[in-house]
Amino acid sequence: DPSGTTTARRSPKAVLKEVFGFDSFRPLQGEVVEHVAGGGNALVLFPTGRGKSLCFQIPAICRHGVGIVVSPLLALIHDQVEALRQAGVAAAALHSGLGADEAYAVRDAARDGALDLLYVTPERLLTPAFLDFLAGIDIALFAIDEAHCVSQWGHDFRPEYAGLGRLGELFPDIPLIALTATADPRTREDIVRSLRLEDARIFESSFDRPNISYTITERAEPRRQLIDFLARHKGASGIVYCLSRRSVEETAEWLTTKGIRALPYHAGLDGRIRAANQNAFLREDGLVLVATVAFGMGIDKPDVRFVAHMDLPSSVEAYYQETGRAGRDGLPAEAFMVFGTKDVLLRRRMIDEGSAPDTVKRVERAKLEALIGICETCDCRRQAILRHFGEAHPGHCMNCDTCREPVERFDGTVAAQKLLSAIVRTGERFGAGHVADVLMGKPTEKVVRFGHDKLKTFGVGGEMDAKGWGSVLRQLVSLGVVGVDHEAFGALRLEEGAREILKGERPVMLRAARAPARRDRRRGGT
Ligand code: ADP
Repeated sequence: DPSGTTTARRSPKAVLKEVFGFDSFRPLQGEVVEHVAGGGNALVLFPTGRGKSLCFQIPAICRHGVGIVVSPLLALIHDQVEALRQAGVAAAALHSGLGADEAYAVRDAARDGALDLLYVTPERLLTPAFLDFLAGIDIALFAIDEAHCVSQWGHDFRPEYAGLGRLGELFPDIPLIALTATADPRTREDIVRSLRLEDARIFESSFDRPNISYTITERAEPRRQLIDFLARHKGASGIVYCLSRRSVEETAEWLTTKGIRALPYHAGLDGRIRAANQNAFLREDGLVLVATVAFGMGIDKPDVRFVAHMDLPSSVEAYYQETGRAGRDGLPAEAFMVFGTKDVLLRRRMIDEGSAPDTVKRVERAKLEALIGICETCDCRRQAILRHFGEAHPGHCMNCDTCREPVERFDGTVAAQKLLSAIVRTGERFGAGHVADVLMGKPTEKVVRFGHDKLKTFGVGGEMDAKGWGSVLRQLVSLGVVGVDHEAFGALRLEEGAREILKGERPVMLRAARAPARRDRRRGGT
């Protein structure tokens, strides 16, 4: 073989069958493989479990040279390399855990063209030594897995990912494929910009996970609610997410006293115990893993039947990722969450008291509010979740709690009109707090300074407090008729459909307010 490789180049279809044992590509998967195998750049936006890995593994095997795969976590890398080796693919990883001899052997194999795939973490890839090494070998492609890690907007920002844009400059002729299961438009823009993927073809499959049913229920007695929920899933494997390590341990212990097989998982546990609990969950049937968000990324257990949230996640993205760990096998699965005042206050406080710069805090607040909107919606939750990711869904999925048992609503048309008109009359330049002040007729310094106490809408919303208006606003955002400009201090603006509401052509039904009042953080200035 003149190229020095050990295997003859095969067609993607043949590799799919002979190496991975699958008869056909999943929708779009074959297109991605063809495109990248042909040398094109690609951005792949598929939900979890949809089959992203083959999108770069097969082109790497088919093309001349070694495919360099960037992945954020060693655990993820180990799992993939192990699975590939078992399938007979020449795969390896370079990481700090290797001895010098092993690392040499891996590099030699790559130089000799004896490797199909080489996995590295981003921090390793970007070292001068590694970039030098890359310059001296044949590279089939670069694959950037979990590409949302480049975005601060994402829930999993990793600063090392920001440097990966250099790959396109250093190796302009090598195809680059970025993959993620996070698809909101903002994250996507960040990926394209950071990784210089302006010319890449975008492959996007629906983010709907139709086999997952969504239930978000008001927190009353959370433990009893959890037990009742688990009773519907006897003998099934599932994850219960809690916010704190302490509540993880307490909940696991308590479930055990109730005769449910439950194990804790969080980053503070001894490494051996953590690994043992994770393995037990992966290998055994019918185990409940009670975990913090430290658990989950890259876990491929197809038959997770439920994911329960005892606390509110930080964003829609996080909620979607975490619930997405259920039902990867396509069989019915359930996402369950208890939600109440406590969650909202706690999450807001975590942001306020966090060490992030103000710009980041603003984004975090907006993301939290978007999730609260989905918790409060009285319309189809699936539709609201998908809308958040920029995807249209007709609603009425009949597989979420709001579709199955319609919630108590009130005719919020007039309230919505008041709010929308206050946004318009203040010039679509102000955030939620200010608009609520105008509605409630509060002559704050800022209201007076802008002359908003002279507006016709000043004081027309005295029937509700800030809490009520906050809830109406979130629901309008969740309906998509109000947009929030995060770049402009959370300024509210009207979106499609808002005019019809203002003209009285479209009625608005709202869920009765139940979220807590916003804490007053009026800041005078801005
Ligand atoms: P993702 O990275 O999108 O979460 P994976 O690449 O881990 O998904 O794939 C999820 C599961 O789907 C794996 O078990 C994989 O073997 C399986 N899979 C992927 N592509 C196909 C296919 N074309 N036919 C059948 N199964 C597939």
